[in-house]
Amino acid sequence: MEVDSLFFESFPSSETDQISGEAEVTIDKLGSKMDCIVRFEGHAILPCDRCLGDVQIPLAFDERLVVQLGESTNTEEEIWTLGPECHELDLSQPIFEWMHLHLPSRRLHASEDQCDPAMTAYLNGGGTTSAEPDGSSDDGGTDENDGIDPRWNALKDLK
Ligand SMILES: [Zn+2]
Repeated sequence: MEVDSLFFESFPSSETDQISGEAEVTIDKLGSKMDCIVRFEGHAILPCDRCLGDVQIPLAFDERLVVQLGESTNTEEEIWTLGPECHELDLSQPIFEWMHLHLPSRRLHASEDQCDPAMTAYLNGGGTTSAEPDGSSDDGGTDENDGIDPRWNALKDLK
């Protein structure tokens, strides 16, 4: 089953419709029960926590839903029951929930270099200017070392 933005049209409350991938559903029939194993592999596009730019995050999971046949339909419990009137098994709701369950809470570009540089500079405020004094203090350090050298020479003279 292909998951794309069309899938999310039936879920207007979704945090994102930028999840795409493939859900493979295997159904094992065990007597009156069915074991539905859903393997999803794909990715989500979410705003990066650092720069708010789009970041593609791999999304993959294996989940399982047990469905049994019964007197009346009940999909509220952990084990679903399908009544005699039910001729279709719609797994889109659990797949939707699993996808959100498996979204990482931290969404970041792999490295800061991949973040939107303009946005990063903006969010850091004086980030770029604060880096400059660090660089100049390094220069000052070498200046001091140069200043120390004659004193060391003087000490050498004392020996
Ligand atoms: Zn970023």
